[in-house]
Amino acid sequence: MNCGDRGRDEDDEWDENDKLDEDNERDEDDKRDEDEKEEMSVADLTGPVDIPELTNPTEPVDLPELTDIAIVGGGPAGLSAAVNAAARGKRALVFSAGPSPLAKAERVNNYLGEPGLSGQAMMERFIAHALQMGVVIAKGRITGILPMGKQYLLSCGSRVVTAGAVILATGVVRAGGVSGEADFLGKGVSYCATCDGMLYRGKRALVYGLASDAAAEANYLAALGVDVTFLRPGNRPAELSSDIPFYAGTLRAVKGGRTVKSAAIQLIPAPQSPFEPSAGAAPPASVSPPAEPPPKAEGDWEITVEGIFLLREALAPQVLISGVALKDGHIAGDSRMNAGLPGLFACGDCLGGALQVAKAVGEGLAAGQEAAKYLDSLGKDKEN
Ligand SMILES: Cc1cc2nc3c(=O)[nH]c(=O)nc-3n(C[C@H](O)[C@H](O)[C@H](O)COP(=O)(O)OP(=O)(O)OC[C@H]3O[C@@H](n4cnc5c(N)ncnc54)[C@H](O)[C@@H]3O)c2cc1C
Repeated sequence: MNCGDRGRDEDDEWDENDKLDEDNERDEDDKRDEDEKEEMSVADLTGPVDIPELTNPTEPVDLPELTDIAIVGGGPAGLSAAVNAAARGKRALVFSAGPSPLAKAERVNNYLGEPGLSGQAMMERFIAHALQMGVVIAKGRITGILPMGKQYLLSCGSRVVTAGAVILATGVVRAGGVSGEADFLGKGVSYCATCDGMLYRGKRALVYGLASDAAAEANYLAALGVDVTFLRPGNRPAELSSDIPFYAGTLRAVKGGRTVKSAAIQLIPAPQSPFEPSAGAAPPASVSPPAEPPPKAEGDWEITVEGIFLLREALAPQVLISGVALKDGHIAGDSRMNAGLPGLFACGDCLGGALQVAKAVGEGLAAGQEAAKYLDSLGKDKEN
């Protein structure tokens, strides 16, 4: 009781206590309801999510042609940037070439408030949260970004999307540039089967397939009439069409004169028949026999090809967009996540430093907010 209750009789005091008990019970019921709601929303967040599929080049997808902020990379950094851009009223479109490597983590124990979640469960929550905020997520690899006045044009397969600002959240580029790769870009080296496949119809091309959708891209090329050979370390991908010859190994160098003429390969034995082109099946008449059979099961080999498709999950930032600021092999972002061009921002592992989820999410927040502020400032410029 406090001094305002003076002068009340005992009954009043009991009534008051009953009321307090009742209020407390109601509060507890409300809290239980809230907790249930909370549990429900967490369950909702981890349910199946519907993401437009851009990896199948023949499948039409309802993709916006124009967005406020395009985010390249659908890992923790990109999704955090998208959620925070959406919270500032901006249309955010996330491109995701493949699953974040976080999905492979058996258990994440150092993310505040969520100890013990698997990486997969964490990603499902992040994705569902972004979708709840109205973020559009599209599966597909961005292969080029072109600044055009105060806008950016982003290429994804045969589609082009225009954005007012771009946030790079591509994670770490695990594979370094192959010798000759940069010299032959556009002269036989390509990062996109959908964009350049037709150029190699009736010709022999090597697919160096490190990305999760590489087999689908190789199948697409073969269906176009390209004579495809598939290379990657490890086993033959299950989805790879049986008429495509497969070799286990790594690409060491791209060689040629004015254009690509051959690929230097290091063959590395894989646990399963690395040199069996198609599980013993004879190549169909329409497909020429595999280029010069390798001399031995492992070691160096040079294969004659006119095209080389380098399909990695992430492309080096300078390949994606020229003018991006770089330092020690990473994007050099400043304290406001600027990445070297007006309206270009970066966050997460692609900036280097601690390669951890909490840092990626924090930087994503800053990048999303800074990109939104940047667009607002352009709007003010127009008004003035
Ligand atoms: C096995 C494993 C365990 C880990 N355990 C932990 C842990 O316990 N705690 C912790 O804090 N961190 C852990 N990490 C690290 C954590 O996963 C990363 O720090 C975090 O995922 C970085 O987030 P990001 O969004 O910057 O990049 P990423 O998660 O790498 O996401 C980048 C995304 O961008 C996509 N992308 C790249 N280029 C393009 C393009 N051109 N177009 C479209 N999409 C593109 C990629 O496909 C990818 O999905 C672990 C990592 C691994 C591999």
